Amino acid sequence: MEIDKFIHKKPYLIAGPCSAESEEQLLETAHSIKEIADVFRAGIWKPRTKPNSFEGVGEKGIQWLKKIQKETGLKIATEIATPQHVELCLNAGIDMLWIGARTTVNPFYVQEIAEALKGVNIPVFVKNPIHPELSLWLGALERLNKVGIKKLAAIHRGFFSYEDAAFRNDPKWEMPIKLREQLPEIPIICDPSHIAGDSQIIEEVSQTAMDLNLNGLMIETHYNPKEALSDAKQQITPNKLYQIMNDLVLRKTKLDDYFLNIKLKEFREKIDILDRQIVSILSDRKKIVEQIAHFKQQNKITIFQLERWFEILRYRKKDAIDFIMDEKMIAEIFELIHKYSILTQTKIMRNTNAKKVENKRNR
Ligand code: PEP
Ligand code: MN
Repeated sequence: MEIDKFIHKKPYLIAGPCSAESEEQLLETAHSIKEIADVFRAGIWKPRTKPNSFEGVGEKGIQWLKKIQKETGLKIATEIATPQHVELCLNAGIDMLWIGARTTVNPFYVQEIAEALKGVNIPVFVKNPIHPELSLWLGALERLNKVGIKKLAAIHRGFFSYEDAAFRNDPKWEMPIKLREQLPEIPIICDPSHIAGDSQIIEEVSQTAMDLNLNGLMIETHYNPKEALSDAKQQITPNKLYQIMNDLVLRKTKLDDYFLNIKLKEFREKIDILDRQIVSILSDRKKIVEQIAHFKQQNKITIFQLERWFEILRYRKKDAIDFIMDEKMIAEIFELIHKYSILTQTKIMRNTNAKKVENKRNR
């Protein structure tokens, strides 16, 4: 993918309200954050889950954003979801655009937007799709790149989750990491506001994003969050934005000191040894699983035994507590181990059955 670098600072900060509500609200917010933000954001067409909620001020918001661009010198960005939105923004000279999570999920929408953007090298940010499907996120970036958009960046805004979790959208930090593995040249901006869903935890999520070496932050900021017409719970005041940005701990990606590098290497060698032991233990475990498969086959019992599986989970959770480990993590690891144990057993049973059938036929 051919990418033009347009983000030259870390953390790159996009801030502004969830929605443009009035000219006064935008101007007041923009003037209070102009020293710290790189880009001013505000949604003018709002994708709302249910009708009859505030769906944005529409086209007239463009002129308010233009006023901010002129008065504050900030770059302005808004969400586009249709070719008409694109056309209106391009004609007005909006600096940057973003594609929302509900649009990234649909390749038809993304393709239509990409075609409307053909021939213009405007920066475009692509939010992750609502559900954790990496290929949709990559696909949207590729579709835009194919029509000539080279100033591309991704926005990590978390993923819908059925679980009653601490976050509005599950961050699934492995997803931006996977995106980075696939497209190392694309900057990734974290949107702690939509991940957190709560102004109290924006700071913590922002810090994690920086610790993972993401390139920037998109933070919903409103001069009066309590009165916001959308996402009121997660928006912060300009003062809070300054405090968060000042308190962020920014880490280097590499150590310059020779001795510290040796120390780090020593830690890593210990991890390598332990990881090798884990693989060796898993291999021993697999050998027993194979014996069990033959045993179950001979004695005609099913592979999956619900009570045994519950027992494993119960015991391992207890082990997790004894070893002061995260119970959820241990449960997830054993779900994976169990999944492959079942696969190994089904494979063995299939093969033995196939052999039996063949022997019968040859007799
Ligand atoms: C937004 O940024 O206001 C927005 C609607 O975000 P998302 O597409 O991530 O839900
Ligand atoms: Mn929002």
